[in-house]
Amino acid sequence: MKLATIGVGNAGSKIIDRMLEFEEETGRNLCRHVLVINSARTDLAKPDYVPEDRRVLIGDTHQKAKGHGVGGDVEVGAEVAKHDIDEIRRAFDDVEIHEVDAILVAAGLGGGTGSGAGPVVIDELQKMYDEPVYGLGILPGEYEGGRPALNAARSLQSFVRKVDNFIAFDNDAWRARGQTIEEGYEQMNRELAIRIVTLLAAGEIDESEVAENAMDSSDIMRTLDTDGVSSIGYASTAIREEGEGLLDRFRNGEELEAGATDAAKIKGLVRRAVNSRLTLPCEVSSADRALVVLSGPPELISRKGIESARQWIEQEADTVEVMAGDDPRPNSPELAAVVLLSNVTETPRIKDIQSQAVDAQDKIEELEAVREEEINDLITDDDDKLDPVV
Ligand code: GDP
Repeated sequence: MKLATIGVGNAGSKIIDRMLEFEEETGRNLCRHVLVINSARTDLAKPDYVPEDRRVLIGDTHQKAKGHGVGGDVEVGAEVAKHDIDEIRRAFDDVEIHEVDAILVAAGLGGGTGSGAGPVVIDELQKMYDEPVYGLGILPGEYEGGRPALNAARSLQSFVRKVDNFIAFDNDAWRARGQTIEEGYEQMNRELAIRIVTLLAAGEIDESEVAENAMDSSDIMRTLDTDGVSSIGYASTAIREEGEGLLDRFRNGEELEAGATDAAKIKGLVRRAVNSRLTLPCEVSSADRALVVLSGPPELISRKGIESARQWIEQEADTVEVMAGDDPRPNSPELAAVVLLSNVTETPRIKDIQSQAVDAQDKIEELEAVREEEINDLITDDDDKLDPVV
């Protein structure tokens, strides 16, 4: 599909940047337009692949932001976006929307800019265009504490109500031991970018290629058209090494079950994708619709394999709405399977974030009440004999 991509806040912009990087590395052409929006000038300078003129600073004249970010405050994040909405609109004006099939808005939901400004940006996009708007949202890890959980739980409601589909990524599930937070983020962003780009760029290939069974973007859009929350599974296998023209390694079954037919290998790869760490851990059977894409050299993609993988997902997800197709990439060094589980409703992590958020909200209210009382006690005399001047 052809996509307009918008990153809001720091995490949102980093994800878009990694998507552009992966696209360039693999010769894909998914993101036809790109824009990043941030309230922190320093974060806007970070992307490597986003052109300078596609970066929008919001809130630089706002009393509480002044170009330094919104300090994790969602209310301020939303306020600065509303305040600078004309500037945001002007940036959209450069997007030739008739050239794209859909718009993707990426944000981290635990902070202030992505979670607060993101929904304002989406509102505006929904007003201006008929194309579907998808959200790509990062859920904060439990280890981040109560405030990010509260931001995320509130922002998730706004995002999901406003977008046509919300693809979620759970930092908690992807946290690895022995890494600094930044190293961890780098790896997570890369993994997420691979999944999103492989999925959404499926079928977007050089027209000179013969691709009878190539995935159609309308199939991807139909699967996403559920208004719900989605998760993605992915698995890949190397099929040749540098300088080696060989498909034999794959054919000989070293990468997958030895001796298996091509069809069985494809099915095995798809099974691995569904059983892999999903972007949002969830009960596969709770998905409403699913879609599977096989991406790699066309001679390795067995139709029979795709069909039997499709049937297998139909059983696993307990739905008849499973689409499957291929994404021929003749020069790809690997074969990849990506599975989109659309509108998953059983995902414990979201419930956990909500309960962490409720605790945080109660605590914040409690502290505020106590603080007021303490200030009052401090500035008044014990018998309350004194009055303020004015
Ligand atoms: P904002 O700029 O105010 O929207 O805030 P950030 O984007 O910096 O952070 C918001 C949330 O996104 C954090 O609470 C983290 O959960 C998450 N986050 C920040 N940076 C990254 C990143 O590079 N990768 C991932 N996966 N998550 C991130």
